[in-house]
Amino acid sequence: MFFEKTPSARSEDPAMDSRTIIELSKQHTMWSWSKSGPLQPLAFERAEGVYLYTPEGKRYLDFNSQLMSVNIGHSHPKVLERMKQAIDGHMLFAAPSAATPVRARLGKRLAELVPGDINSFFFTLGGAEANENAIKAARLYTGRHKILSRYRSYHGATHAAMQLTGDPRRWANEPGASGFVRVMDPIPYDYSFGTTDAERTANHLRYLEEVIQYEGPHTIAAMFVETVIGTNGIQPPPAGWLPGLRALLDKYGILLVCDEVMCGFGRTGKLFAFEHFGAQPDILTMAKGLTSSYVPLGAMGVTDKIAAHFRDNVFWGGLTYNAHPFCLAVAEAVLDVMLEEDMVGNAARMQHVMLAEMAALKARHPSVRDYRAIGLFGAIELQKDRQGTRMAPYNGSHPAIDRMMAFFKQEGLFTISHWWTLMCNPPLCITEAELREGFAIIDRGLAFTDEAVE
Ligand code: PLP
Repeated sequence: MFFEKTPSARSEDPAMDSRTIIELSKQHTMWSWSKSGPLQPLAFERAEGVYLYTPEGKRYLDFNSQLMSVNIGHSHPKVLERMKQAIDGHMLFAAPSAATPVRARLGKRLAELVPGDINSFFFTLGGAEANENAIKAARLYTGRHKILSRYRSYHGATHAAMQLTGDPRRWANEPGASGFVRVMDPIPYDYSFGTTDAERTANHLRYLEEVIQYEGPHTIAAMFVETVIGTNGIQPPPAGWLPGLRALLDKYGILLVCDEVMCGFGRTGKLFAFEHFGAQPDILTMAKGLTSSYVPLGAMGVTDKIAAHFRDNVFWGGLTYNAHPFCLAVAEAVLDVMLEEDMVGNAARMQHVMLAEMAALKARHPSVRDYRAIGLFGAIELQKDRQGTRMAPYNGSHPAIDRMMAFFKQEGLFTISHWWTLMCNPPLCITEAELREGFAIIDRGLAFTDEAVE
């Protein structure tokens, strides 16, 4: 049977108000990671710098950079101008089999920016796909099939990236792809490998070596780590762990893959997070900050040795839109702005302001269990008692956290909570005054979680 449909919303229709945008979006589009029924999303129409605006003109301070991705801030005029130039008189699309000027330039540029011998890049549409290709590359290069990753990790929502992911978001997608082995993390709690960084590093690496031996080193292609754990609580590794991991994996011929989809491109106060920790990956995956999400783009970077392998062996992978010239041109413009305006340096400087604000919140609020920040990558953990019991369960929330989040919405602060953790990750162009404005709202909002502390 054929039903006639009446045309409704068109791009030339007059501007819609928030209610219409939300209703139509809920009726005709599907939402990720949520039940769309009870969902009450905000409707944003435009954004500038660190602020987002609804159609009615209400302003929100973006304390999350839209999933930690709009690193250079919203609607940067230089990038918008370069986007227009990239369309004018250029070939808008070339299949990934073609060589294009922008592909040549961006590959060379990234080779210059990434420290060490990662000099060859495979361009993808985003972070999960960069990881999918890294899994493939590691398996093809080593001839082994198993992949190690950690429980406190998120690597993306595609089939294999979901199995690479350790956090509970993978449960509903199981059994999923095979060949993935997850291990505990060396970070302080809940289970602890020790009380000092030195103990945690040494004990964790001993544990990991035993896992490797039980799994069969000759079956393990790679271990994936988020250099600084992102959504699972902004957790940098303990001192000495990454170089120790590098040495352990080298001993067994296992590749180290650093997933810097979230922590890369200046987020931690260095261009790449691994620069903090004194070890080099064999494969580096990236997305988000690479174009600051002005357009979708990710990449997998590989060492000269791996690149040489794929000169003589087929890389079995690729999508129609990989290395899309327009997206590559936007990445060039974003990198120019990020570097010219020293946004990476600003993230490093603002880390101190963020840590001072967080320390003050911990002193004032019994619901603050702990806090961390590296660059503008920050998180506040919430507890429900003074013994440090997490306020929300894995994969859940707490009514007090929900009330606090509703308060932020009302007060014009846009951020997310992830289970018991509140994320503080504004664009890297944020000023000290804007950062303090966000923390002033958080200070008031924490009254809701304080009330729930037993
Ligand atoms: N890896 C990490 C560390 C991430 O944080 C994310 C997304 O948040 C991904 C991979 C997946 O990236 P995408 O959503 O672009 O596929």
